[in-house]
Amino acid sequence: PMNRHLIDKLADGGELTRQELARLITDDSREIAAYLAERANAAREQIYGRQVFIRGLIEFTNYCRNDCYYCGIRRSNDAVSRYRLTEGQILDCCRQGYDLGFRTFVLQGGEDPYWTDERTCQVVSAIRQSYPDCAITLSMGERSRESYQKLFDAGADRYLLRHETADSEHYSRLHPAELSLAHRLSCLQALKEIGFQTGCGFMVGSPYQTIDHLVEDLCLIREFRPQMVGIGPFLPAANTPFEREPAGSSELTIKLLSIVRLLHPRVLLPATTALGTAEHDGRERGILAGANVIMPNLSPLEVREKYLLYDGKIATGDEAAESIRHLTASMKKIGYEIVTARGDYLV
Ligand code: SAM
Repeated sequence: PMNRHLIDKLADGGELTRQELARLITDDSREIAAYLAERANAAREQIYGRQVFIRGLIEFTNYCRNDCYYCGIRRSNDAVSRYRLTEGQILDCCRQGYDLGFRTFVLQGGEDPYWTDERTCQVVSAIRQSYPDCAITLSMGERSRESYQKLFDAGADRYLLRHETADSEHYSRLHPAELSLAHRLSCLQALKEIGFQTGCGFMVGSPYQTIDHLVEDLCLIREFRPQMVGIGPFLPAANTPFEREPAGSSELTIKLLSIVRLLHPRVLLPATTALGTAEHDGRERGILAGANVIMPNLSPLEVREKYLLYDGKIATGDEAAESIRHLTASMKKIGYEIVTARGDYLV
């Protein structure tokens, strides 16, 4: 059928129109999803083989000055018990991770004013000194260009900042008025210009999202060419304005992973925690559809249940060592190999 031909065009490096992208997204036949996954998988295999890169996620603070309507750790959520890790605790997480084979550490947190440039650069330099062979990824929201530059100079290599939605009106329905898509995009531009391997991304099925919004998300990725893209289903979080909204579709999330792989074959693409939360085999299915990164949790067990971006978030029980054993086994079962490597973007 027609839509199979669209997948061939995309996989052979052709550029689909917005209308064609919309048609692919809305085609919900199993056959199309399977063919998309097949072609995406082949594209990933050509560049990265059957290797899956692991990133150790360290959730270093759940304080946040922002009030995003979807997020469980938003400022107005009084039910959250707030914590921030000390430099010593962060370095302990890295040590544990390093011994387990991690060569990328991702420091993720809310926008916590405690983490000034000075304090953050201090931690980044300490990690850089102790682990010269590791990549340091930061995911701590919007900051000034000067601030990003300082973090980069201190030794950070990569930065994750999802754009959340490429439509500014939709953006304003997900965030309070003080946040804007324009500012988010200017942060992404600055990060890339400074030299960070930069990641954008979006939630699938967030409230008010339309097919056209998803098409815009894909077009943004096609134009911006980020080194990384994070895509996960929206999942409702208790005590937020969206707590009664339905979750996004895992099937659609997986299809979008395949489409992103095909329109940007070199991208580093995680099978996200949100996808693994929505489906027990979500991460495996993500890998089989073209993803090539998994981000296990290295945060101390006692803070895990406090970093609840959405309800039911996984990895609230597994010790890091245990989860990596499970992961290695489950990847092996589907024919993939967890590797100890920085896993940089291949130019
Ligand atoms: N504060 C930083 C930022 O905004 O980039 C990093 C942490 S933020 C919690 C990380 C990501 O979590 C966001 O980019 C968002 O896409 C995702 N997230 C937050 N709430 C979510 C929800 N209810 N469902 C799915 N993903 C969610």
